[in-house]
Amino acid sequence: MKRRLAILGATGSIGRAALDVVRANAGDFDVALLTANRGAAALERLGAEFPQALLALGGDVPSSIAHRGREALLAAIGEAGADITVNGIAGAAGLLPSLAALRSGSSLALANKETAVLAYPLVKALAEERGVPIIPVDSEHAAVFRLLEAHGRDGLRELILTASGGPFRRYSLRRLRKVKPRDALAHPTWNMGPKITVDSATMANKGLEVIEAVRLFGVEPGQVKVVIHPQSVVHSFIRAGDGALYAQLSRPDMRLPIQEALYWPGPAPSPFGVLDLPGLRLDFEEPDGNRFPMLPLAYEAARLGGLYPCAYNGANEEAVAAFFQGRAGFLDIPAIVRYVLDQDWGGELTLESIMEADGRSRNIAASRIGE
Ligand code: NDP
Repeated sequence: MKRRLAILGATGSIGRAALDVVRANAGDFDVALLTANRGAAALERLGAEFPQALLALGGDVPSSIAHRGREALLAAIGEAGADITVNGIAGAAGLLPSLAALRSGSSLALANKETAVLAYPLVKALAEERGVPIIPVDSEHAAVFRLLEAHGRDGLRELILTASGGPFRRYSLRRLRKVKPRDALAHPTWNMGPKITVDSATMANKGLEVIEAVRLFGVEPGQVKVVIHPQSVVHSFIRAGDGALYAQLSRPDMRLPIQEALYWPGPAPSPFGVLDLPGLRLDFEEPDGNRFPMLPLAYEAARLGGLYPCAYNGANEEAVAAFFQGRAGFLDIPAIVRYVLDQDWGGELTLESIMEADGRSRNIAASRIGE
């Protein structure tokens, strides 16, 4: 039977990859909902290709699409009646849509890492109440999810997430200071949206993924390690109780973890080719927290827990937006996040406190940027 599929952020990098999976396996899915933010023309084009899909825009922009604005987007998720929802919305704006999808009784294929970073305990409780799974799509977490399924977690010692190291892996601090948005947008192995590409270059993306792993897999921050692996072929390792390492390998192509999530728990087809071993080279090295402080700052936020991860994310989103607009330099990004994390972010995790911390962290970051 065909599965009803909703794709949130359908016009973005994850959304486009998810639509490729649908096109390659057309007999298996009915597209029930496609969403975007302000990209009305791109969404209308997708609507012509998938005429049965409901369309919704998060931004209230001029368009023939009836569902426009944040409330309309959430209502459309409720109306779609999807069996599974891919959340490929960028940033903290993905949280409420994740909750709306789960509330509608849909499984959640989660690319939007901010949902896990900001609010995983709330999201997980809602998923359990509705009896639907959350399947990680972020490639490292999809790999850990599969490795834990295959090997179990008895005696699990640590999770090792790989990081490409981004385009500035070999840059000195002096060179990093001069980096411009154009340089940061040239990622060596992955083709992603602009914000996550800059996060890859500062290593904030890996920082968010460390917090995401702590929350998704219920491990201590000290049990999550990061290793630089420039080829991006090994997506993660787990280290078992006897010290053995198990790894998951595939080509760096987001269609693969998306497809696995869409077919979970069954086997997925392989229309996108497989990894060849001859000639394959795998290098690993230690990350450098001095040149890339966003990684140690994420560990600090993960250890402090509570609303610190929200503050880390909110401050980073604000700082990256300022970097794109030329109001902050590349090395100002970690300095701004450092400044914000020095405030008090203790407190209970509720939807209200998360929204408050998200807004407050952005305001503190914005005032620091304006100084
Ligand atoms: P993109 O910037 O390419 O796409 C973002 C999508 O979200 C677009 O469809 C955009 O619509 C929509 N959107 C943006 N803001 C809002 C909003 N406020 N409300 C509703 N919709 C919104 O991002 P990516 O695809 O790169 O990343 C999406 C998420 O997936 C992020 O959380 C990222 O960390 C995660 N991820 C991405 C990977 C990748 O390979 N790209 C890999 C692993 C995780 P519009 O086009 O109209 O602006």
